[in-house]
This record gives sequence, C-alpha cells and structure tokens, in this order.
Amino acid sequence: MNAKTMHKISYGLYIVTSKQEEKINGQIANTVMQITSEPKTIALGINKKNLTHEYISESKVFAVSILSKEAEMKLIGNFGFKCGRDIDKCKGIDYKIGLTGSPLILEGTVGYIEAEVIDIFDCGTHTLFIGKVIDAEILNDKEPMTYAYYHEIKGGKSPKNAPTYLKEEEPSKELDETQKIGKYECTVCGYVYDPKKGDPDSDIKPGTSFDELPDDWTCPICGAKKDAFKKIE
Ligand code: FE
Repeated sequence: MNAKTMHKISYGLYIVTSKQEEKINGQIANTVMQITSEPKTIALGINKKNLTHEYISESKVFAVSILSKEAEMKLIGNFGFKCGRDIDKCKGIDYKIGLTGSPLILEGTVGYIEAEVIDIFDCGTHTLFIGKVIDAEILNDKEPMTYAYYHEIKGGKSPKNAPTYLKEEEPSKELDETQKIGKYECTVCGYVYDPKKGDPDSDIKPGTSFDELPDDWTCPICGAKKDAFKKIE
C-alpha cells in the first residue's frame, strides 16, 4: 500500500476553536467538511489528545475559522504547533467571541462557521464531531487556503497529532545529499530553513545562509528561536 496516496485527497485549512467555561482554545485542522445543507451540518475530525478535543467534548460547541492564502505562517504555527495547555493561543491574536462562546479568528481568515455538536463518532485516535451550523459569516473576498497550498507554497508541515501526519513526511528522508547543504530543521515543528528560498514572511531574501539570519529571527511556523534548529546531515 502506498500511504502517500492519502495525500491526494484535497482539504482546506482551518483554525478550529472551542471553549470550556471561561477558557478558550483553538488548533489547526484540515478535516472539516459540509455534510448536509438542510439543516446545515458540518463534520470535524479532531485528535483525542488535543486540548480542543477536550473543550469540544465538554462544551458541545465549536467554531471553524477559514484560513486565507495570505495567512501568516506564524498564525498557523501558533495554533498548529503550540499547546493550549502551555500558552493562551489567542493572546495577541485578533478575534471576537461568537454566539457559541468560541473565539472567531479575524486575522488571516476569510470567514467563520459556528456549530453545536449533534452527534459524535469514535474513530480510534480521533473523534468525528457532527455540528449543526448556528452562524456563519464571510469576512472578505480573499482566497481560502488549501492544504496543498500550505504544503507546497508555504512549506508547511503536519503536526504529529494531525490525521494526515506521515512519518515518511520527515524532510530529512525526502531530501537528497546535495539539497541538504546549508539546510536547518526546526526541532519543534519540523520546518526546514532553505537558504535558496529564504523566509519571505520575515523579509529574509533567498540566498541568505542560516548563519546570516538575524539573532532574533524565529521559526516562521512555530516561533522557536534559532538555537532550536539543527543542521540536516
Ligand atoms: Fe518551528
């Protein structure tokens, strides 16, 4: 079986949020889809280990903020590669509280959908939540991010708890010897700094070696500092 065939399935990319009493949290997810139009329902797959899973299971509500192609990698890294048990992921982020009490992300997004959980399916490592849509709004005319765009254009990686995560995805195994020269990998999120590409989000021009990066440069995905990077050998 070629497990990479699963990567040929198309997805979007979303910030899924929820609440637990006064607390709020969110995470990146690609497994969101509309199921029915009358009434409007959506399905959402979430890893049981994630804090957002705990919040949705208890509060029975969630919101889906639809990422824009223009979303900064730092926004995706903040919600995708950090843990809500350690930090307040919404701190410093432009958001408002929706009808469900879940935060709706207003930066790097094109719109949002809020839902109440009406059914739950146990899928082993993940739970499939079925939500009845109670509110939805379009914020602008920008193009929504697709999962393929995130991987191919933005150079994004999948966190280990993502349903689409494959061990084979680790970049060091995909690169040949000549491509590895001068490349550094973030030990937190797996992002690879490639001098040939630079880091457009931080105005780092192509051709800039890792050593030439400013000391205060941080991983564009997870925000880790330079010393969290290791040379790929
Ligand atoms: Fe990182």
